[in-house]
Amino acid sequence: MSQHILVRLRNSRGRSYPITIQTGLLRQVSKIIARGWRGSDVFIITDANVRRLYARLLLQGLSAHKVNARLLYFSAGEKSKNARVVSALHTQLLNQGIRRDSLIIALGGGVVGDVAGFVAATVLRGVEYVQVPTTLLAQVDSSVGGKVGIDHQLGKNLIGAFHQPAAVFIDPNVLRTLPTAEFKNGLAEIVKIAAALDRKLFEKLERNAARITRGSSRLLYSLIAESVRLKVAVVEKDEFESGIRKTLNLGHTIGHAIEAASDYGGKHGEAVAIGLAAEAKIAVELGLLTEDDYSSVLSLLHAFQLPTKFPHIKSRSKFLTALSADKKSEVDTTRFVLLKRIGHSVIGVDVPTPFLSELTGRSR
Ligand code: ADP
Ligand code: ZN
Repeated sequence: MSQHILVRLRNSRGRSYPITIQTGLLRQVSKIIARGWRGSDVFIITDANVRRLYARLLLQGLSAHKVNARLLYFSAGEKSKNARVVSALHTQLLNQGIRRDSLIIALGGGVVGDVAGFVAATVLRGVEYVQVPTTLLAQVDSSVGGKVGIDHQLGKNLIGAFHQPAAVFIDPNVLRTLPTAEFKNGLAEIVKIAAALDRKLFEKLERNAARITRGSSRLLYSLIAESVRLKVAVVEKDEFESGIRKTLNLGHTIGHAIEAASDYGGKHGEAVAIGLAAEAKIAVELGLLTEDDYSSVLSLLHAFQLPTKFPHIKSRSKFLTALSADKKSEVDTTRFVLLKRIGHSVIGVDVPTPFLSELTGRSR
């Protein structure tokens, strides 16, 4: 099974790049890079877990094809998405002689993609990089679209850049080693994409929830491909997120605020699932969404064993501050992407903060 999707970007100096989705692709990546790459050294950036699982395959493959490749890695997890790790990588790359025509390979989940992509965007004012996403979340969402960056004390993903990769290589087979919790994390983003953009995909998820949870590889392959296609179509229209791309923030306004208020204790996908449920409820209260569609969103999240219940928020002031950090308008409203019906969302809906405060203060 193999699909190529070309991302055509009007804004980025007319650049376009391919996304390949293929079972067993990881084994081919070194050959593909060796054939196409005419620059100097290649630097693989990964995390400690993915290094143990997949880095040798890539490194040895590149060496076998006479490509000078080195491996850099950092500890796994969101806590590594910071300026200290970025600076350490800059130092190692410069010490090891990175040049403007070097290539960085981001091998790993969303954290590696964001960090390595940001390093690629900044070292020597930017070098080329390719994404080899190894989590479901990274394959369907974060590796596509060129948003790279790190967290800041004041909030998640506040420091970053738009830096499009030269290519994305997606191998669904690497998901076989992914822990269940990480797999569910990715499912939350697929539900987001389907709910925001495509009712057919949403219904496919409903029909096949049990098989998906069991990890059916054929289904997974098609879900990844469909999610990527939907995201690509949005990114092509709005690379820099000035309009339609905001649609993909569905569930994330509340989701981010939950993450901020709990000091990022839980998983991103869980926060997104709760965010999707809470924002769908808001849409119902505002008369945008029907109760039926709201129930469908809840049921699908439950079918994937994702949480929907609003958690106990340790710091309500942190939660409300994080909500207002997300907003782009007046003092007492938060701007949301809300569902109108499954498969259709509206951006830029201002919701009064007192209303939100009341809604999220109640536990359902
Ligand atoms: P995300 O992709 O959700 O943004 P991370 O990049 O932190 O999150 O990845 C989540 C965890 O899964 C990390 O501990 C990472 O090392 C691990 N991981 C990534 N890819 C794989 C894989 N294919 N198999 C097993 N573990 C993986
Ligand atoms: Zn997300």
